[in-house]
Amino acid sequence: MAKVAFIGLGNMGGPMAINLVKAGHAVTAFDLSAAALAQVKAEGAAVAATAAEAVTGAEFVISMLPAGKHVIGLYSGERGIAGNISKDALVIDCSTIDADSARKVGAGLAAQGIAFIDAPVSGGVGGAKAGTLTFIVGGDAAHFERAKTVLGNMGKNLFHAGAVGAGQVAKICNNMLLSILMVGTSEALQMGVDNGLDPKVLSDIMLKSSGRNWTLELYNPCPDVMPNVPSSNGYQGGFMVDLMAKDLGLALEAALQSQSSTPMGALARSLYVAHQRAGNGKLDFSSIFKLFAKAN
Ligand code: NAD
Repeated sequence: MAKVAFIGLGNMGGPMAINLVKAGHAVTAFDLSAAALAQVKAEGAAVAATAAEAVTGAEFVISMLPAGKHVIGLYSGERGIAGNISKDALVIDCSTIDADSARKVGAGLAAQGIAFIDAPVSGGVGGAKAGTLTFIVGGDAAHFERAKTVLGNMGKNLFHAGAVGAGQVAKICNNMLLSILMVGTSEALQMGVDNGLDPKVLSDIMLKSSGRNWTLELYNPCPDVMPNVPSSNGYQGGFMVDLMAKDLGLALEAALQSQSSTPMGALARSLYVAHQRAGNGKLDFSSIFKLFAKAN
């Protein structure tokens, strides 16, 4: 079992750290929030007063922070903790951030002889609690192999996408496609309803036809077509519009940088940001269906 430092114990990081404790690792946690720290302490993690204290002597340093600026702030610059991390440690950043920031952090740590991988996740809070996350890793193959010791206790599917930064790129490609599928499925379903079709019958037809996709199979956005999905529960739970809008912003930035043409992704971002600004940020992302539905 390993000595692990875990920094960032929010909706995702908290349950991930607890799964490591349950697997028998010696976890030392740090978060700016005392409430978040208390939660993991109650489950058996040791807590540190600072990030620098948490990482001292750790074999694995895992971070799960909101955005790129937090990750850069943690590891780089004058107030960064790189100097406190052991040269033998592997740093694993699981936050969803832009690939450029991941590469900068990786290069900064490498310059000090410290190994780094980016390992963003898919699977949401439910997956974090159940230990069934998908990890999409960028970094050396040897570091990916080493990371399995801890990633395997927090997730079920572990992918090696390529060099440092590749995990972030793969994750935003996936989420950009997911948002496009969700918007397209929503507008098709509503057009059917507007023309007198039962959305359940139309969903069954499209599921056996060429319009079949993940949202129709597992996450139908039209209320009451499928049980146990956010659309049948007032769009509560699931993956928030705020987070989808964030990921689509990252996708757009990446596309601009690589001069990729992503018209569908750009449109999906605009729609999700408008939906967010209309006050739907905390709803599940399948609530984009409401944009097309007729007010009754
Ligand atoms: P969150 O806001 O719930 O948690 C972030 C935590 O980081 C907070 O507890 C905050 O206090 C802490 N923090 C911020 N700066 C810190 C610092 N400098 N030092 C220590 N702690 C600090 O966010 P979350 O939902 O857990 O998401 C974390 C990351 O996971 C984000 O990058 C998000 O995009 C990604 N993600 C989230 C989901 C999801 O469904 N929530 C799914 C996949 C990926």
